[in-house]
Amino acid sequence: MSKLTIIVPSYNEEESLPLLFSAVDEVIPEFQKRGVEIELLFVDDGSSDQTLSILKEKVKKREDVHYLSFSRNFGKEAAMYAGLTYAKGDYVTLIDADLQDPPKKLLEMYDVMEKEGCDVVGLRRISRKGEPVIRSFFANRFYGLIRRISKVEMVPGARDCRLMKRCVVDAILQMEEYNRYSKGLFSFVGFQTKWLEYENVERVAGKTKWSFWKLLLYAFDGIIAFSTAPLALSIFFGLLFGVISFLFLLIIGVKTLILGSGVSGLMILLCLLFFVSSVQLCCMGIGCAYLSKTYLETKKRPIYIIKEKDESSIL
Ligand code: UDP
Ligand code: MG
Repeated sequence: MSKLTIIVPSYNEEESLPLLFSAVDEVIPEFQKRGVEIELLFVDDGSSDQTLSILKEKVKKREDVHYLSFSRNFGKEAAMYAGLTYAKGDYVTLIDADLQDPPKKLLEMYDVMEKEGCDVVGLRRISRKGEPVIRSFFANRFYGLIRRISKVEMVPGARDCRLMKRCVVDAILQMEEYNRYSKGLFSFVGFQTKWLEYENVERVAGKTKWSFWKLLLYAFDGIIAFSTAPLALSIFFGLLFGVISFLFLLIIGVKTLILGSGVSGLMILLCLLFFVSSVQLCCMGIGCAYLSKTYLETKKRPIYIIKEKDESSIL
């Protein structure tokens, strides 16, 4: 029997947990038929409701349920990282406690993985039905932007829910960076990935833990973690201001040398202002170029990830 660990980051999910247990119980026999044993690993992210006591009760009754409980709320990223660290399964998946990633989908994902022989099967929402319009609008803008400024591909609508083989989990765990942005990390490690598309499902119970501002800051984290393009902005403006000051210089030159008319002091002042700003911004940009390299070094991301190698003695 191989083992599938289902990691469930849970923050104040007392209303969703009973529903989640019954939904998972429905798929357990199906997985058993396929020779897969299920293990549930809950990460209580410092909940202030009954989440932890519900989990403790379950653990007493069931051997296939485990939990970790944080000392305070550290956020979903931390909960996912802890879950991946402690998961023992040959296959590992993350799902939300609110049934937005329906456990039934896991079966479909597993079957696709077995059939196609891929390493990761992810879930991708093709609609954002039921989501506030403004949230969808900004989400779409974010994916458009990050696609342009980052080398790591982030698939629009991709959920954190994905079924991974052990080798993929180990690769993700090689990245110990503090500011984690999992959507980017999953893409960074590569491996053969298949996407299953589905219609958005709304939360079964409880409330979303993400406010608009929390999401906006999270998107900002994503950009900072996977792109150093913002650091290049000062060089861009430096060069732009340089061109503007040159244009002013040109106008001054034409007016005085060719037309022989006087030039206003304001014109000269503007020309100097743009020139000095340009020099300052370009110098700052050079500093930023070094900073961006240092930033990437401090993350200590693996330089490569080996998927397989032959077993000859030389390796
Ligand atoms: N979650 C968490 N820590 C947090 C916020 C959320 O562990 O600080 C969990 C939450 O319990 C749920 C999952 O992350 O299982 C997704 O959260 P939520 O459903 O609120 O996000 P949404 O689906 O609205 O994006
Ligand atoms: Mg949710």
